[in-house]
Amino acid sequence: MYGHWIEGKMVKGSAQNRIEVKNPATEEVIDTVPSGTLEELDRAVQSAKKAFPQWRKVPGVQKAELLHEIAAKLREQKEDLARILTLEGGKPFRENVDEVTWVAACFDYYAELGRNYMGRVIAPVEPSQLSLVIKEPYGVVACIAPWNYPLLLTSWKVAPALAAGNTVVIKPSSVTPLSTIALHKAFGALPPGVVNIITGSGEKLGMALIRHRDIRMVAFTGSVEAGRKIARTAAEEFKKVHLELGGKDPFVVCEDADLAVATKGVAWAAFLNAGQVCTSTERIYVHKSIAREFTERFVEFTKTLRLGPGMEPTTDIGPMAGESYRKKVEDQIQEAVSQGAALLHGGKRPKKFRKGYFLEPTVLTRVDHTMRIVKEETFGPVAPIMTFKTFDEAIELANDSDYGLGACLYTNDARKVKRFFEEVKAGTIWINDPLSDNDAGPFGGMKSTGGGRELGEEGIEEFRETKHVHWDFEMRAKEWWYPY
Ligand code: NAD
Repeated sequence: MYGHWIEGKMVKGSAQNRIEVKNPATEEVIDTVPSGTLEELDRAVQSAKKAFPQWRKVPGVQKAELLHEIAAKLREQKEDLARILTLEGGKPFRENVDEVTWVAACFDYYAELGRNYMGRVIAPVEPSQLSLVIKEPYGVVACIAPWNYPLLLTSWKVAPALAAGNTVVIKPSSVTPLSTIALHKAFGALPPGVVNIITGSGEKLGMALIRHRDIRMVAFTGSVEAGRKIARTAAEEFKKVHLELGGKDPFVVCEDADLAVATKGVAWAAFLNAGQVCTSTERIYVHKSIAREFTERFVEFTKTLRLGPGMEPTTDIGPMAGESYRKKVEDQIQEAVSQGAALLHGGKRPKKFRKGYFLEPTVLTRVDHTMRIVKEETFGPVAPIMTFKTFDEAIELANDSDYGLGACLYTNDARKVKRFFEEVKAGTIWINDPLSDNDAGPFGGMKSTGGGRELGEEGIEEFRETKHVHWDFEMRAKEWWYPY
């Protein structure tokens, strides 16, 4: 039975008050997790608080060894974790094997980075002094992740938080909590209490976690709506908050693009994980001179993508994660069609599956920036195609969004590339290689997508506070009215 993981032990929680976890490919309940109480939440935070003073003092080399050990255990359990991820989240198994591989790589990366940068020595005001800028952990950090990449987005918080000397309380999404709880096997080598996992609803338990007086920092990935509430709550108590929120990423395809490559690349960026990627391509802008051929090829390619349960090796696109998510996307598609959009492919629930939250990959044209399908985040397999005549127009359209997470471009024209990465307001710019990952590079958004950065050196700095130490080797009494 799945429970919370507190102070190195499984805590079953109430047998009555439990949250059902469903397989989105079959709609069957696969297991349950406790709907955590405030008392259980407090135990988890107190466990992390108790573990903090010792954990922060663990020497860097030893911390690194422990984080590498987590990575090694994750690699051993890769297939088991990937199976759980597929059963609860719907993503194809091989993509989940990739996800666990990246999670292990993230722990290895921060194991080493944690040993590196501890501050700097600056010029003192007196010759007898040392002036030190040092970095310290915050204390207990709340790590809250969504369901689309549950383990990856948890690792982007937990690995740097631990490497920086913090202890953590993780609250996974109630849609996909099982894989996160299963991580406890990999965390087994850590001193008890350094990592704690507590399950429950976002609105109730998640909010209570953020409000808890012993939480010093909140690292959150999720929707703009939840992010806004969290930012307000954290601001009331001046808690450090790190937000990675929604996106509406543009993809610009220029006239020199290789159409065979561009068709596949854009389809991959739009339909990967049934379009439930924060950096999914959700607005496609194609140069007018190639738009017709691109669109024809794009539709033909989309028709070849195979929908199915994530455990089937032939599946390209799994089910969406839940009925409410599918319904929201269907409403956006229907509204766009009623406003004049042309539905070139998809948009329906496939007849082949009587159960499961499947939605056909959908291609739309005749859409514009007045429609919700172009303005709001569409967390599903939808590709709205628009055209542009000049590169100025392409940049203007790419920037015409409340969001600023990522942006993709296909061109080999160096002048356009330079303009694109300088002028498009987004945290990640992909030129000719959509949605590639690199742990060493910072990831995050601008505008309504939030502000902080995960991964890279920036990713560990988020979890460190800065302190300035003035140290004089001579003891000095101060003169009143000291002339500066
Ligand atoms: P969500 O905001 O509903 O939930 C995310 C997490 O926050 C869950 O664990 C949930 O239980 C918790 N939560 C919800 N409301 C809360 C509250 N008021 N207080 C505290 N915790 C709360 O998002 P979701 O549906 O799980 O995930 C999809 C969203 O996540 C999309 O908008 C997507 O773009 C975004 N996302 C962003 C990134 C990124 O890096 N920018 C990555 C992945 C997903």
